[in-house]
Order: sequence, then structure tokens, then C-alpha cells
Amino acid sequence: MIFATQIHPHDVRDEGAVAVARNISELAACPVVGAEISTLEERHPYPHGELPHNPRRNVVVTHARHETPLEIPTDLGFRPVLSEEAISGFDYVAQISQAGQKAGLSVIPWIKALNIELEGDWQQACVVTAGGRVVRNWLCPSKPTTEQYVRSYVRYIVSRYSPRAVLVDRLRYPDWSGAQVDPSSLFTCFCPDCKALMASYGIDTSHVRASLKRLGDSFIAGTDATTIAHDDQLRLWMKFRQDRITRLAQIIQDEIGAMTTVWLNLWPPSFAPWMGQDYSSLGRVCHGAKHFPYHKLGGGADLSGLVRRLAGMGVESPERVFRSVMDLLELPYSLSLAEFEEHGLPVDYVQHETANAVRMFKATPIYTGVQIWDIPASEIEAATEAAASGGASGFFFYCYGWATLDALAEVGRIARRQ
Ligand SMILES: [Zn+2]
Repeated sequence: MIFATQIHPHDVRDEGAVAVARNISELAACPVVGAEISTLEERHPYPHGELPHNPRRNVVVTHARHETPLEIPTDLGFRPVLSEEAISGFDYVAQISQAGQKAGLSVIPWIKALNIELEGDWQQACVVTAGGRVVRNWLCPSKPTTEQYVRSYVRYIVSRYSPRAVLVDRLRYPDWSGAQVDPSSLFTCFCPDCKALMASYGIDTSHVRASLKRLGDSFIAGTDATTIAHDDQLRLWMKFRQDRITRLAQIIQDEIGAMTTVWLNLWPPSFAPWMGQDYSSLGRVCHGAKHFPYHKLGGGADLSGLVRRLAGMGVESPERVFRSVMDLLELPYSLSLAEFEEHGLPVDYVQHETANAVRMFKATPIYTGVQIWDIPASEIEAATEAAASGGASGFFFYCYGWATLDALAEVGRIARRQ
């Protein structure tokens, strides 16, 4: 059984590496720590509340910068933006690794494959929406320069830290989150390279664009979108996207899989096909995966934020839009949006998603992300038990900095009982 938690750079910079290592080893009893190598455009904690044990700040807003020193080829045309700390050579991952060594912690790099703040000629490198908008800071998985970048990036990280494992996140297409909630970011990539590749798949991109427009209109109108979602061309487009992501996962495995353990960070199965993640094929090209059925949020991202944004684009009630989205995701819960926003999805969701992930991953282990912030401490044990009954091979308690010290102590009680 793997017991892990995840940290952000400001946890270590604000609390100090020794205090963080001590809290994780003594309080939370988690021997594995995923350390975020580059941040996201994100409020900490998300989507509301305050950091409960940060001595310097109540809320931190991050900007998708690379937070540790980085050397990659300079002929790509684009490059990641480094934070001031990274430019000055400060490496918080090295710090926490050193502090954690004494406490018996394994610090593993938690990397973002395709989503990072970029400078240079990023317009040529990033995904394009069905409406023709370039999504900044999100690399198109089909481009040769992306492949070159990903290969050199993962190799650099592994040679820098020689970690026991790496957790590869953002190996997918964009969702709706970011600096603002934007549903149009869900429907990419229509860049020239992808359009040419799609033609070779027999995909009629005009037809797919029209279907995606109808799908979006259906959400906004709060009507049943499942018939549109089963359109043959739309299914082919989804398969194309999944193939592009699996191909890149295979490339990462080829590049570093003999040197370290490669874990993927995946959306829970009900959302994953819409992000370009196909569990059945990804299970064959990694050593394991963490998925994150954070039940209070309704998946991994802000489902309520998406529904409210869609409802704001039309005249239908948010309740109808919520039902339309739940039906499309085939989530078997009859709760209302009001109930969801108050309590989240039932804890049973964790079992449901984990069991599906385990079934599709076959012999490859699935680790379940357990939400430990913004929920009652009693639900941590219930969610962990739900994940275990779904067949999880371990747990990633998310996350260190957003959780109260009481919640971390509850994780420690659960971990010590195993
Ligand atoms: Zn593309």
C-alpha cells in the first residue's frame, strides 16, 4: 500500500523544509511526497478558504511557472517561464528531499507534461479550440516540438533528482479551469498539425466542430446531450485525442521508464475520456496511476464553476444545466445542484470511480486521491475505505498545505492502522 501526500512550493518556502518533513512523517505518516515542480494558475486553497498552517500567508495565488532550475534544448521556439526562485538557483525540491531523508520520506517530482507558462513563440506550440483560439500555456500533444520538449524535460528531471518515482500530471487536453472558467477550452485541438492528422483518421473536422457547437448549446439549454455525444464523428475525434495522449505516455515510458517508476495523474474515469485519457490503453504504458475523485468538488476540478458558467451563457436554470452535465458523465446520482454545492458527491463516488479505474487498468496499480481539505475529518476515513473497497493499491491524500493539522493527524491514524 502506498501512502502519499502532495506539496506545493510555498509550503516549503513558507513553513521551512524541516517543519514540512516532520509534519508529513510524524503527523500524517505518509512516506511518499509528491513535490510540485511547476505550479498551475490556481488559488491555494481551491476554490475558497484559507491555508490553515502557513505562518506567512492565508492565501497564495500561483501562475503556472517552473519552480526549480531547468535546462532544456533552446531550439524549440518556446520555453517554460521560470519563477524568481528557480532563476536564482533555489531548489525547494532538493531542500525537502534532504530534510525528508532523515525522516525516511521519498520525495517524488510531480511534473506537468503539457501545461506550463510559456514564453517565445508559444502560439505555434499550443492547442487551438474549435473556435480557433490558441489556448496559451497548453502544448499540443501532436507537435514534434512537444515530443522533443517532453523527452528532454522528463529526462532532465530524472537525472537531476534520481527519484524513486515521478508523478506525471497534465498529460491530457485542457479542461475548463484556469485563471477563469472557460468551457470552450474543453474542445481542442484544431491546430494545422492536428487537422492534418485527423484527416488521416477519416475525421471530418467541420462535422466535429458543428457537433461540439451543438453539444455546448445543449448544455447551455439544459437539454439531454447524450445523443449528440454518441455521434460517430465525435466519438472518432475523442478516440483520436486519446490516441495522441497515450502515444505521449508511451514516449515518456520509453524515455525514463527503465530509470524510475512512472506514475500518471489521471482524471477519474467518468471525466477522463473527455480529457483525452483512455484508461484501457494508458494502463499498458505506465507503472501505475493516481486518479483524483475528490468527491466534495465532484471530480478533480470545479464542477460547480463549470455549471454556473454554462448557465450564465443562457437562460436555463443552473439546476437543469447541472442535470445535463451529470447525465453526460453518466454519474448515477440524483442530487440537485444545491445539494451538490452544499455536500459534494456522496463518498460512494470514490468507490465507483476507483472500481472503474481498477477494472480498466487490469494488473497496473491504481492509487486514489483522497480529498482532505474542505471536508469534515470523519469523511477522510470514509473516503479512504471507499477507495480501498474499490481496489485501490494506495492513497494520495490531497494536499498537505490545504489540509488542517487535525486532518493530517487523521491521515496519520488511518495510515498507522494499515
Ligand atoms: Zn494540435
